[in-house]
Amino acid sequence: MAIEIELPDPSVVVLVGAAGSGKSTLAARHFQPSEVLSSDAFRARLGKGEEDQDATGPAFRALHAALRRRLGEGRLTVVDATNVRRSARRALVSRADDAGAPAVAIVLDLGLEACLDGDLERPGRHVDPSVIRRQWSELQASLSRTGGLLDEGFVAVHRLVRRRDVDDLRIRRWPKIRPSTVPTATLYAVDSTT
Ligand code: ATP
Ligand code: MG
Repeated sequence: MAIEIELPDPSVVVLVGAAGSGKSTLAARHFQPSEVLSSDAFRARLGKGEEDQDATGPAFRALHAALRRRLGEGRLTVVDATNVRRSARRALVSRADDAGAPAVAIVLDLGLEACLDGDLERPGRHVDPSVIRRQWSELQASLSRTGGLLDEGFVAVHRLVRRRDVDDLRIRRWPKIRPSTVPTATLYAVDSTT
């Protein structure tokens, strides 16, 4: 059965997964290009290319600035970066908190082989297998901690473990309400007069 994810809109959608896991493919399939902030795209814009690790600092500062601006305008935003480290995810959750927007994680927790294969299949750029292994292990460590990613402030953590689940994924958006700006009592009101 297809997995269906419901996303509050606006929200910050944090993609999590090693290189080659399929984050950019998922983002392109389910979101408008303008909704996706990709660390690789910022590296390419600010450095020598998508793989320019020296541009990582400026790339993430620019990504965070763009995220802050978009959230200020109430726009759903997808962050396409590996986000396998808790510190990277916490920084994004904190950005969402500042804007009063919920943060949702979509974790591509595929096997290491699937990530290595995905990297080889991707045209153009390739990531060193040792880097993919390290990212994959970092994600496993995050997931195996007590609380997994759930204690990091996400309102939901969706973990996809099979390529098929990723392929069949359906994403629905909540109506355009801003949960943070609607009083809780209104959101969950039960009509007690009936
Ligand atoms: P990076 O972190 O390096 O940017 P990524 O997580 O964005 O990696 P993608 O570029 O989306 O990974 O995917 C890498 C390759 O894996 C794709 O070129 C494709 O060959 C394969 N792939 C990705 N998603 C799927 C999918 N849902 N079904 C089949 N193959 C896929
Ligand atoms: Mg990518």
